[in-house]
Amino acid sequence: MKIAILGTGAVGRTVSARLVELGHDVVIGTRDVQATQAREEEPFPAPLATAAAAAAGAELIINATAGQASVAALSGAGAAQLAGKVVVDISNPLDFSLGFPPFLAICNTDSVGEQVQRAFPEARVVKTLNTVTAEVMVHPERVAGGDHTIFVSGDDAEAKETVSGLLREFGWRDIIDLGDITTARGTEMMLPLWVRLMGALGTTEFNYKLVR
Ligand code: NAP
Repeated sequence: MKIAILGTGAVGRTVSARLVELGHDVVIGTRDVQATQAREEEPFPAPLATAAAAAAGAELIINATAGQASVAALSGAGAAQLAGKVVVDISNPLDFSLGFPPFLAICNTDSVGEQVQRAFPEARVVKTLNTVTAEVMVHPERVAGGDHTIFVSGDDAEAKETVSGLLREFGWRDIIDLGDITTARGTEMMLPLWVRLMGALGTTEFNYKLVR
């Protein structure tokens, strides 16, 4: 599949590397290609392009940008480039302005997933993977052999099925469809607990397992 990843942080790098390994055609979108290349020592696993150029050629777009900047970052790609496409939203609205632990800048009655869906009504937004660290997103077997849970939220059933297919390619087996995009509130609000679990366990490599 032709995939654009908007995001040059740990998530953009890790997810793009895995998608390339799985045979997908990947471009990484950023605001300023030269500035991004100049600030990074390690080469990126896929070509860099402006967000607009990356999204233009893509069938599916992944949002791996800072949650509070996600609508701006996707606006850089352009609404016309998102229309009709599946937009996988991995972001979290973590605000570190008061130090650690971060607080949620958006919560309870809204979520980044909903903000993105409202800003781009023709996009088919699916929230997923925001509840695990980047390496576990694409290698769930790193934790308990992959016996744990990932969630999807979104208004478009077909888009959620497309994304679930990608998740299965990564190795996910227990995928729970929570319902429409408002259910992203719940998975984004798991983050305050997640960051405290990271402290308690001394690792980022863990996940929630739903037992039922
Ligand atoms: P990050 O440092 O949170 O975000 C980096 C990206 O955000 C860059 O691509 C940057 O764009 C973009 N960005 C920042 N401010 C922007 C602005 N004002 N306008 C447009 N774009 C802006 O990177 P990350 O750690 O890889 O996390 C990405 C997202 O995934 C976050 O929402 C995070 O909460 C979530 N997440 C992260 C992890 C993890 O393991 N790190 C796990 C789960 C979820 P440029 O490329 O143009 O500089």
